[in-house]
Amino acid sequence: MSFAKAMQDLKDRLSGSDRMPLVFLGHGSPMNAIEDNDYARSWSALGESLPRPQAILVVSAHWMTNGTTLVDVSRVPRTIHDFYGFPPELHAVRYPAQGSPEIAQEVISLLASHHAEGDDTWGLDHGAWSVLAHLYPDADVPVFQLSIDMSKDLDWHLTIGRDLADLRNKGVLILGSGNVVHNLRTMRWGGKPYDWALEFDQFFADRLETRDFAAIADRAKMGSLFRMAQPTPDHYLPALTIAGIADGRDRLSFMNTSIDIASVSMRSFIFH
Ligand code: ZN
Repeated sequence: MSFAKAMQDLKDRLSGSDRMPLVFLGHGSPMNAIEDNDYARSWSALGESLPRPQAILVVSAHWMTNGTTLVDVSRVPRTIHDFYGFPPELHAVRYPAQGSPEIAQEVISLLASHHAEGDDTWGLDHGAWSVLAHLYPDADVPVFQLSIDMSKDLDWHLTIGRDLADLRNKGVLILGSGNVVHNLRTMRWGGKPYDWALEFDQFFADRLETRDFAAIADRAKMGSLFRMAQPTPDHYLPALTIAGIADGRDRLSFMNTSIDIASVSMRSFIFH
């Protein structure tokens, strides 16, 4: 299927949703924020296809906390350039969206059993703004982030979002940003995907299709394949959280089902 046809197909499928879809995007290189490539174009097309949100809650791989779950309550989140060695054009990017302190407070209440707390020091990291720059280029939808607690294991991340499910009925887009396969130690520019990268990516997709969410959070059973795909699981955790919120009414669509730089899966999914 051509790119244009695939995006039109996705748009058709997303129309008629009576609640906000759940979206996970593989973000890959920060340069995708300013490059004109298929990933960037797919994010633009997705932004045009989604129902317009009241606010966006982003679960980004790049806001890692240890022993806490933080929610950005700032009125105007700052744009964080949390990377090194990239060109000045990327450092110049600002994503001037407003925050949403009121809905952020609601998230804190909903996550009371997880001891969530407000934070006004983080802002928007590139896991959020590199995709939002294409999804909503006018930065006219309020955005706030939820941190990932690196002290917790996979099953915790799979379930934390369930208390947020009702926000979908209030126009909140819950957006995960990471990568289903993310091994930078083995990356090769322009390289062919590793077999283990393809294998884990397909395993993950198949389990989503059958809604076997327990399997994608079972570290012991996934074994060495998971350790190759995710030497540190930060880019995986947002995918778990998004998948964990889905329920029996949701249909599933994939986009960007390719492996970049040999060991980074760009696979993205939408429950709608
Ligand atoms: Zn990243």
